[in-house]
Amino acid sequence: MILLDGKKTSQDIKVEIAQAVSKIKLEGGKTPHLAAVLVGSNGASMTYVGAKVKACEFVGFNSTLIDLPEETLEEELLNQIDALNTNDDIDGFIVQLPLPKHIDEQKILMAVHPDKDVDGFHPMNVGKMALDVPTFLPATPFGIMELLERYKVETSGKNVVVIGRSHIVGRPISILMSQKRKAGDATVTIAHSRTKNLTKITREADIIVAALGIPEFLTGDMVKGGVTIIDVGITRVDDATKKRGFRLAGDVHFESVSAKSAYITPVPGGVGPMTIAMLLKNTLLACSRR
Ligand code: NAD
Repeated sequence: MILLDGKKTSQDIKVEIAQAVSKIKLEGGKTPHLAAVLVGSNGASMTYVGAKVKACEFVGFNSTLIDLPEETLEEELLNQIDALNTNDDIDGFIVQLPLPKHIDEQKILMAVHPDKDVDGFHPMNVGKMALDVPTFLPATPFGIMELLERYKVETSGKNVVVIGRSHIVGRPISILMSQKRKAGDATVTIAHSRTKNLTKITREADIIVAALGIPEFLTGDMVKGGVTIIDVGITRVDDATKKRGFRLAGDVHFESVSAKSAYITPVPGGVGPMTIAMLLKNTLLACSRR
């Protein structure tokens, strides 16, 4: 079994980005600038945004964190987005999800200018991705593609089963892996909460992308020998033995599944850090395009 080490790979990518930024600065170019908007104080969101800001510092980007209270009105958030859209120094920005219930998430994502949409969530960018036109790829699927490519995992002609059909992970990774591209050319099945006989389907899979958000859902009896496993899930599970009171669990029961796997991503240290590295990559692209 080979561990698909997202921590190490993302570090390699960040070093590459840092080198590119040094070169831009030496040549008198503009320092890439990423902004993140956080609404409310969701613990996991605060951790993710904090990690993104820290990653910006590492690669030499400028970063701005806009921290808004939970009660922020939709209109106020839209005004904030408008200000970021028109701020010439900001190359790209993200609105950390989930948003509080009183805010229409779709309306907010539509308000982000597609040229600054480094999360790749705007319908214009989703459409381009689906049509295989160069654009910002959503960071988590982009990270998975990069990890498969860097570890030279063969995907061409393979049976891929994606569990989960969310707009940010399941749906886009199923599109990307079915396209004619690196880490693509696969035959993809997308499974979801209404799928019947899931085990029968997963047992046929050469590669499984688990993105459903149910801790340790995929177990060893559901996979065949030699499978490649991408575990996207990150759930906080209560754990009194930990100082912070919880541990992070993936969607895959690591012990039983890894025993049968050719390649597998760990949680933490797999897809998570790759997501952040690809957000930086998108920001560098946004900066170079302007
Ligand atoms: P989501 O809740 O939006 O979607 C979950 C999907 O799983 C749905 O499409 C649903 O149909 C499917 N599903 C639910 N129960 C199922 C079942 N029993 N069998 C088959 N399918 C089932 O989730 P999401 O936003 O895609 O996130 C999924 C997980 O990935 C979460 O744990 C989330 O925290 C994690 N995540 C991690 C990263 C990262 O960077 N590593 C990024 C995004 C999301």
